Amino acid sequence: MIKINEIYLSVQGESSHTGLPCVFIRLTGCNLRCSWCDTAYAFHEGKNMSIDEILGKVSGFGVSLVEITGGEPLMQDSVYPLMEKLIEKGHRVMLETGGSISLERVPKEVIKIMDLKCPGSGEQEKNHLENLKLLSPDDEVKFVILDRKDYEWSRDLIKKHKINETAHILLSPVFEKLDLKDLVKWMLEDRLPVRLQTQLHKIIWDKNTIGV
Ligand code: SF4
Repeated sequence: MIKINEIYLSVQGESSHTGLPCVFIRLTGCNLRCSWCDTAYAFHEGKNMSIDEILGKVSGFGVSLVEITGGEPLMQDSVYPLMEKLIEKGHRVMLETGGSISLERVPKEVIKIMDLKCPGSGEQEKNHLENLKLLSPDDEVKFVILDRKDYEWSRDLIKKHKINETAHILLSPVFEKLDLKDLVKWMLEDRLPVRLQTQLHKIIWDKNTIGV
């Protein structure tokens, strides 16, 4: 069984796949407590579902792209057979993870979107930097930026580990905390090889709406 917070159809609001129809499977529970977290409702609430029940619900939407998210989806061991079954069924599977748990057991077909937590999150110490060696060219590393200090920390880490040579890099400002214009200015000044990310779903719907 897997504890599931919600399963719903929407458009991808983040990542390089922004705008594509996607089924989201949100797993309950998280081992982190980021200062700016917008999904705290997924820390505890949810119901247990079997993998077959989840697959049945997902197939009912008739959409190929599926994102497994949380919370921290890698906290529940059954997430691995779930990812394998979704791939077997022909789905394109994306995994959104906070970056504190090893990616070693994630099937190679899965597109990994891994956060690296900046100082402003309060969870910087939890980054499992060994994961950088497990990324493929289709994978994405996301930095959520609260302020200039977070930006500089991200920039220096990107350069130190040459992250752009192994994966796409997304810089995403904390919603309503950092002005997009400031982040764009800094990125361009430094000619940083990254992609700006907005949270499309918060533009389409109210920022507090869940299940969209
Ligand atoms: S990892 Fe994600 S779900 Fe967990 S506290 Fe941070 S932002 Fe929230």
